[in-house]
Amino acid sequence: ATPTALMVGTGLSAKHGILIKNGEVLEAVNQVKMVIFDKTGTITVGQPVVTDVIGPEKKIMTLAGQLEKNSEHPLAIAVLDYAEKLGLNNQESAKNFAAIEGQGVTGELNGQTAFVGNTRLLAERQIDPDLQKKMQELQAEAKTVVLVGEADQVIGLVAIQDAPKASSKKAIADLKARGLKTIMLTGDNQLVAEAIADQVGIDQVITEVMPNDKADHVQAFQQEGAVAFVGDGINDAPALSTANVGIAMGSGTDVVIESGDIILVKNDLQDVATAIELSAKIFNRIK
Ligand code: ADP
Ligand code: MG
Repeated sequence: ATPTALMVGTGLSAKHGILIKNGEVLEAVNQVKMVIFDKTGTITVGQPVVTDVIGPEKKIMTLAGQLEKNSEHPLAIAVLDYAEKLGLNNQESAKNFAAIEGQGVTGELNGQTAFVGNTRLLAERQIDPDLQKKMQELQAEAKTVVLVGEADQVIGLVAIQDAPKASSKKAIADLKARGLKTIMLTGDNQLVAEAIADQVGIDQVITEVMPNDKADHVQAFQQEGAVAFVGDGINDAPALSTANVGIAMGSGTDVVIESGDIILVKNDLQDVATAIELSAKIFNRIK
């Protein structure tokens, strides 16, 4: 590939809001066999909203709000927005707050330990069978469910929905039409992740991945061929660096953007397909 052709390629893509760090990246894009996506904020909009509260709503939302005040997780923001809507946002925040990676948050309220998170956070606490059933129904509707409780009691649950971006389904179809394998990696629950994957047509889903393990999964897939990883979160930075091509959403923080070889200014997944098409065109022309 001539340097001039590569410069023309990177210039062309910049006009579309696809920033490519250098010409070698375009060459790597042309080798890619599979595209691995983060879920939240990449395939989905990343602005989750509370859709259902099962159990005593006022008590659940007061407790959840007091705990999530200390967290910056997208799920925490959804909980706080909803608590505010109910006028429950001016309570004091929980003491001895702790965020437990991939599980949820805990703290002290009314002299007891309170918690919001997934089933991994429950340890030996039990969920009532009816609540368990309700949880699974909501998850099958692609809603992330967090359990809310205090001491050894689960008092109810909050379902939170984060819809796919408008462009995700077509972008994934275009990649598959080019013969690329599509994979989703997420810390979220299997039922939820599979429901989202079905909505957008993703081939394979890997769920309940701890943030630090994303890069290891990328490395494992590299045994099968060159990998592009697409992500937006700080958690995604190591996977972006490990992949043959790291594609970062422009909405990501500085660390994320620095870890990407390609930056999608418009946060539009269609631009993943556009970048791959562009590189194929350039390399077929140059050869
Ligand atoms: P992802 O962003 O890919 O879903 P995370 O590792 O951030 O992955 O979160 C995984 C899971 O941990 C969430 O789906 C949720 O069940 C739980 N969790 C993490 N942080 C919180 C929080 N602040 N409040 C409630 N649940 C949380
Ligand atoms: Mg994300």
